[in-house]
This record gives sequence, C-alpha cells and structure tokens, in this order.
Amino acid sequence: MQTALADFLKDTPQGREAQDILRSCVHCGFCLPACPTYQLLGDELDSPRGRIYLMKQLLEGEPVTERTQLHLDRCLTCRACESACPSGVQYGRLLDIGRALTEERVRRTPGAVLTRYLLRTIVPHTRRARALLGLARVVRPFLPSALKARLPGARQASAGSWPVARHTRRVVLLEGCVQPAVAGGINPAAARLLDSVGISAVRAGGCGCCGMLQHHLTDHAAARQAMRHNVDALWPHVEAGAEAVVFTASACASMVSDYGRLLQDDPQYAARAARIGAIAKDISQVLAAESAALAAVLDSAPGVRVAFQAPCSLQHALQVRGVVESLLSRAGFTLTAVADGQRCCGSAGTYSILQPELSGQLLRSKVSALEAGEPHVIATANVGCLMHLRSGTSLPVCHWVELLAPRLAGG
Ligand code: SF4
Ligand code: SF4
Repeated sequence: MQTALADFLKDTPQGREAQDILRSCVHCGFCLPACPTYQLLGDELDSPRGRIYLMKQLLEGEPVTERTQLHLDRCLTCRACESACPSGVQYGRLLDIGRALTEERVRRTPGAVLTRYLLRTIVPHTRRARALLGLARVVRPFLPSALKARLPGARQASAGSWPVARHTRRVVLLEGCVQPAVAGGINPAAARLLDSVGISAVRAGGCGCCGMLQHHLTDHAAARQAMRHNVDALWPHVEAGAEAVVFTASACASMVSDYGRLLQDDPQYAARAARIGAIAKDISQVLAAESAALAAVLDSAPGVRVAFQAPCSLQHALQVRGVVESLLSRAGFTLTAVADGQRCCGSAGTYSILQPELSGQLLRSKVSALEAGEPHVIATANVGCLMHLRSGTSLPVCHWVELLAPRLAGG
C-alpha cells in the first residue's frame, strides 16, 4: 500500500515503522473472515483492512474524526488478523501507533476520560484492585446484573502451598496485578507443577503490572514506566541464573516478550529489556518442554471432559497453539470440540468494560461454543478470559494448571 507520510511523521521512527507495515498490506482481505468485529458488524471499517485504511489516512495527515476513533476503539487487539494474514502485516504494531495519534487529536467525552483514567490507575495495582473488589462486594445487591456477574466470590478456594526452592534449575514467576486478587490459586499450582519436574519457581518480588493495560489505553508513558520498574525488579533474578521469566497469564507473557522492542530506544534499559523479553514464557511453553517428566508424575483424570478456550494472547500474540490441549490430553483429560476456537471471547483487557455490547455478544457465542461439547469444566490460560467466561456460564471455569496440579501424585 503506497503511503505519503504527513510531514510531522516523516523521518520519525514511528513514521518509518508505520510506513513499512502499510507497505506490506496487499489489500487481499484474507483477514476479514478472521475478525470478530467484522463478523458481528459487517462493516469494512470494523475489519482489519478497513482500520488499516483509516490509519493510512491519519498517517498521511488527513483530518481525524470521532469516526476514526470509534472504529479503532472497537478493535479487540486480538490479533486474529495477524494469524490469518499471508503477508505478515503487523497490524497490532500499526494499531498502537494509530491509536496514540488519534488520542492526541480527538477529544473524548469527560465520562470516557474518567473511565479510562480509573481503569489505568486502579486495575494494574493489586492493592487498589483488592480494595475496589471489597467495596463492590459490599454494594453487590445494587450493582447492574452484568457487573454483578463479573464479580469474583469473596471466598476463593485455598491457594495451596508454594514449594520451597530446592532445585538447581530456576525460573522467576511474575504473579500479575489483578490475578492474585481474583484467582490466588493459579500461581501456586503452577509453582507445584514446575517443582514436580525439577524446576523451582521463585516469586518475582517487587514487580507490578506488566504495562499492557496502560499500553492498550494509549498511556504509553505509564506503560514504559511499568516496564522499566519490572526490568529493574527482574534483572537480579536473570543475573542469578533464572532460565525463564514465567507467566500464568498469557496476556502478560505476550506483553513482556515484547519488552525488547518497546524499550529499544531507551539506552539504559534496552539490553536488559531485550534479554528479559527473550526468556519471557507462558507456563505452557515451559511445561511443554518437560511434558514427558510431567506425564510421569501425574495421576490420570479418567472421565473428566474439558473445553479449552485458547486466549488470543496465547494463540495469536505468542503463536502458541495446541500445546495446552496436548498437555491436558496427555494427563488423561478428554478435550471436547470447540467451534471457532480462534475467535476472541470478548474479554480483551478492558474491552468488556469499554465496549460492553460487542463484548457481551462475543461472550455468548464463545460460551455456547464451549458448552456444545458438554464438558464438565472450562479451562483457559489467562485471568481476564477466566473472569469474563465465568460471567457467562454456570460451568466451572479455571486455569488449566489448576486441573493438572491436583493430579500430582500425592498432591
Ligand atoms: S490479510 Fe494482510 S495483506 Fe491482506 S488485507 Fe488483511 S492485513 Fe492486508
Ligand atoms: S485485532 Fe482482532 S478485532 Fe482488531 S482488526 Fe484484528 S482481528 Fe479484528
């Protein structure tokens, strides 16, 4: 796609990157059927190709309007279009640039500004998220039913023990910001599985949010601050020989694996960020490499039927496909068929709050696909999807490591 960049973007790194991405798009439209918003709305401007056109206009200096912002806001950042694109168009990177430029040029309503501010300043902080959850539970009877359904119960199952670090092989596990407040059993379960295959998981003390939430809300300065903070907190573990930085939330794994690119222009952090990004892994990637050892220490799970929902961050951003399913099958679980498995569930970070109608439609269609095979339980690999799916089904929804950990011999 030929592009004549506006003067304010010429000779800037983001202008050059955007131009390269735009040039790689050949307008073929193969991405359209993969796009959930295009499937729902049928409008080319709510498809990847249509949004690319809108961003091209913006980059060429044409006027930017609320209409541009609306169609970019409706994008889930699921990156299913990248998986479908035969030309390797890096749509997600272009969207980051397009959204940031739009945000500078189109004013939001005061209500939207406040909502986005609250999301940026509360959700990525575990203590603030806990306090907000506590308050929401108190006023639960007065909340709208959609919001009520999303609230996790006050009593969570026991988190379970975290094994003492006893192995030479070590990884550092970043616990996440929201997850400890809403699903505290996931990380200890992952640590026990790693321990069972001879790898000690050390908690990444001092780390905060990976920065994804701020990044997607186009607060790039706050996202970079969060990234630098985590690089400082993780680096001593890397220097001490941690072989991987591990996550049980695939969205965080995908964000941190991109730290090298996102901090490449920061001379103080670029090298360390690149090293951390290179060893950032979803827990499935680590356990897949140890699958034989894992199978040897797991009891089988006869008769348990599982529907697995692959988060977009796992299958599209990290390009990890079929790995969790294989680990579950090998452990004796029966995987039920899930139609349209590449399609987003509608959680997408803060999307379920900012675009509730589209998110709700995607949730209903995802739940019906997951329930079609009559599973006993739904499993996923990302806490945002987990909370979102729980709001739409009466079936139990858990992280897949919570299915495997109780099967550890003696566990
Ligand atoms: S599939 Fe790729 S090359 Fe084709 S229109 Fe979509 S983004 Fe462009
Ligand atoms: S990221 Fe997802 S919602 Fe956005 S254009 Fe691509 S496929 Fe569509």
